[in-house]
Amino acid sequence: MINLDQELVVGLDIGGTQLKFGFVSGQGEVLNFKVKPIERTDEGNADIHSMVETIAHFLQEYKGSRKISSLGVSTPGVIDTDQGIVKTAVNLGWGNLPLRRLLEERLGLPVSVINDAEAGALGEYHFGSGRHKDRFLFVSLGTGIGASLCIDGRIYKGRDNTIINLGHNCIFPNGRPCECGNRGCLEKYVSGPALSAQGGKDAVLLYEAAGQGDANARQIFQDAGQVLGMALVSCLNLFGVDTILVGGGLSQSGPYLMEPARKIIGERYKLKRDWEVILAANPLKAGMLGAAVMAFNDLKERG
Ligand SMILES: [Zn+2]
Repeated sequence: MINLDQELVVGLDIGGTQLKFGFVSGQGEVLNFKVKPIERTDEGNADIHSMVETIAHFLQEYKGSRKISSLGVSTPGVIDTDQGIVKTAVNLGWGNLPLRRLLEERLGLPVSVINDAEAGALGEYHFGSGRHKDRFLFVSLGTGIGASLCIDGRIYKGRDNTIINLGHNCIFPNGRPCECGNRGCLEKYVSGPALSAQGGKDAVLLYEAAGQGDANARQIFQDAGQVLGMALVSCLNLFGVDTILVGGGLSQSGPYLMEPARKIIGERYKLKRDWEVILAANPLKAGMLGAAVMAFNDLKERG
């Protein structure tokens, strides 16, 4: 008999550059939160084996009395959630990776795998800015851009579990070439790497420069914010939501990115419905929390 009030799960959020993980209770409290850089193989792919060992070590170090029941993993890309396989994750260099099997074999715990934008939406619905919202679009701005539509706490699923592939939505037909094979994709203009490429420095440093009044840095954020705003106008038109909830590392760049985006929406969203673009309450932990929610749900289903 499981007692979910007493048990913890591991929430693991695999980002483009960092792993975030910790123990999560059924009430959404986070214990032993850690952030580690993702190691890359010689081929430049995210090193799954070092990730597995990092989590194994984390579990070995746990000295608490509460039972650790399972692991929920949030990862970018197209996921087969039934099989726990990452079918493609361009930013990690993964294709058909049996993520669940690799983790279960090493850790001896049941593992649930969920796309990062879906996890972010679930995390915010249960523990963040999405509480009491019957429908909202969650947009994750980081190394890539993901989106997920949350309706009454359930995530809209496309055929074959496909997500809302907002980052690879073409904005400029003849724009910058993208790793996906298309050109002019949104995330070539708004993601962390896109901003770094334009500013010649890490997006965090670029944000600091903008804060110190660097006109070039501010212009880069302004341009990216306008492109983001246009993409969000399309989202408001397409999905019939009034709330867009923005998370991910880049959502932390404050007014420099989000204000131009909101200004564009005000100018270009013509349906005259009320709308709001709000920040995730847990921008850095929403994915981990949502992965934990999925792990708890799977535990309940298994009884
Ligand atoms: Zn693309």
